[in-house]
Amino acid sequence: MRKLMIKCVSHKKVYLNLDIAEEALIGARTRFDYGNQSGPVGVYQCEDCGYYHLTSQGAMSNNLAGYLSSNKFKLEKEAQQWLDKLKRK
Ligand SMILES: [Zn+2]
Repeated sequence: MRKLMIKCVSHKKVYLNLDIAEEALIGARTRFDYGNQSGPVGVYQCEDCGYYHLTSQGAMSNNLAGYLSSNKFKLEKEAQQWLDKLKRK
């Protein structure tokens, strides 16, 4: 089976819809420590490919801001830190 690969002139990773992009955004914030001043903060629809990309420019999306201040995020983050520790052994 051929994997569907959509390429964009921006060379950014393409997400097929807004939900998938928001999920990827939240997943990235969970997996990596960006701190407050860096990392992706939102998603946008691209004028070139018509699909969605993550962006580190502009205001943080409401979805992401809500998630980052939620308990779920803290728990996911702790779980991820444990996984990282286990991997390092
Ligand atoms: Zn694009």
